[in-house]
Formats: sequence, structure tokens, C-alpha cells
Amino acid sequence: MVVPDPQLPTRVRIYEVGARDGLQNEKGTVPTATKAEFIHRLAASGLTTVEATSFVHPRWVPQLADAEALFPLLQDLSDTVGLPVLVPNDRGLDRALALGARHVAVFASATESFAQANLNRTVDEALAMFEPVVTRAKEAGAQVRGYLSMCFGDPWEGAVPETQVVKVCRALLDMGCDELSLGDTIGVATPGQVASLLTALNADGVPTDTVGVHFHDTYGQALSNTLAALRHGVTTVDASAGGLGGCPYAKSATGNLATEDLVWMLNGLGIDTGVDLSRLTATSVWMAEQLGRPSPSRTVRALSHKD
Ligand code: MG
Repeated sequence: MVVPDPQLPTRVRIYEVGARDGLQNEKGTVPTATKAEFIHRLAASGLTTVEATSFVHPRWVPQLADAEALFPLLQDLSDTVGLPVLVPNDRGLDRALALGARHVAVFASATESFAQANLNRTVDEALAMFEPVVTRAKEAGAQVRGYLSMCFGDPWEGAVPETQVVKVCRALLDMGCDELSLGDTIGVATPGQVASLLTALNADGVPTDTVGVHFHDTYGQALSNTLAALRHGVTTVDASAGGLGGCPYAKSATGNLATEDLVWMLNGLGIDTGVDLSRLTATSVWMAEQLGRPSPSRTVRALSHKD
């Protein structure tokens, strides 16, 4: 049954991260042809932004070491689907641009501990590394997203001060990022905290329409936090088909908000996403078979359950 809520947007853009954030955190490596089929199926289910891979050094993320081989296999989608790729540095950007990437993303941290763990740099050193990458990407005509990890809590530092998050968001926008993604990397946020951070960002002049949200379901809060963000006016939500992936630093394996769980809620609220839920669910069931384990998404399980 569809019951709209007048306080919510009428359309939400789902930024699908399963093929990158999801598969990056899988133990095994998925064959390139399987990844290409996965991304084609995601696009065929109506998703219009499908993050494809990461041009990081293969030693850092061996699961995505085939970026050069995979990206050309997606060319038939490039007119209709945004296919962002992660680029950590100049070298990664060069590799992505050489293959015709038009949407790229850098990944910063709101905390010093995670900047060290993930990038082996201070927060400011990481921002200094990204600045020329963003400048060159913009000069090349690419759209740039700035990911921000640990916006709500950090496994080493605990609660993260809003001022710290606002400062890094400001820096990413000032260097030219078109869009931000606020990551609750260990899934500890609760809805009041989400609303409070969005308000703090607005107070610093960061408009809500530049902000996407990236919630993890570690503590079962991802959909509640999404609703809080939508109520604040956010219209870009990151999600991972079938709930693939997570964060190696979180306490349990439960990770990314499942796209199907998100679509179920948005469908019920009458919010348009363009996604065909049954096609998407079939895709996640197929991917779970490729990975050899069931999808953690409750919506996938419910819709695919057979007595
Ligand atoms: Mg994630």
C-alpha cells in the first residue's frame, strides 16, 4: 500500500555502490565478466547511477584490480547510466580518464585515525593529495564526488565532532567537488544525529542538494537514518544491491544499506526511484549465487522466499 508523506521529496536518486563498495569488501575476487553482468543487470533494473570500480593500486584492493579490464565492458551503458569510479590520486585519475570515465570520486576521512588507517596520511595531507586530482578531473569535464568516511562515529575516536565533519566537507566543496557523500562507516548514527549534522552543514553554507548520505546497517539504523535525511531534504541516497559489503572496521559483518530495503520503503512512501524492485531482487539473488552465500537484505529474502 502506498501512503505518501508530504514532508518528503517526491523523487530520490539512488547511488548504487554494490559493484564497488560491496565487492571491495568481499573475501574472494569476483571474475570480471561476472562484475560486468552484475552492473548491466543493475542498470536494467532502473538504477541510473552505478559506481563501477576503483582505480586504486591493485595491492590496496585486489578485489578491484581488474578496473582496466572491466570499465571498457560497460561502454554500452555510458549514455544512459552514470558509472562513477573511485580515484585516490593523480595516477588513478589518469587511468580512469584514459578509459573515458566521466564521473569520479575521491574518498576523504572526517577523522585522523581513519585517515591514517585508510590512507596513511593526516586529514589535511589527504585533502592536499585530493586537491589536484579534483582540479584536473574538473578540467577534464568530469563530475566529482567527495566521499567522507566516519562522519558520525569512529572506531578509535568514538563520537565525531560536527565541526570536524563540517570542516572537511567545506574543504571538499571548496576544491571543486560537485557532491558529497556523508558516510556512517561503522553504522553507529541515529536519526537525531543525522538531522543535527545536516543542520550544522547548512549553517556553514553547505546546501542540502550537494549532500548524499551513505548509511550502514550495523546497528539496524540505516533506514531510520535515511528517513531523517529525506525529511531534511536530502534526495541522494547510497545503497548496495543485496546489502553487499560493509566495513572491515565495523564490529559485525552487517554493512551497507541494501538497495532493495531502501526501495521497499520508498515505494511505500510513493517516492519515485525508477527502480523495478523485482528485477533488482532477482539480480541480487543471482549475485548471491555467484558469491555462494545468501543476501543479507531482508527485502531480498522476503521477496525471494519459497516454501
Ligand atoms: Mg559503504
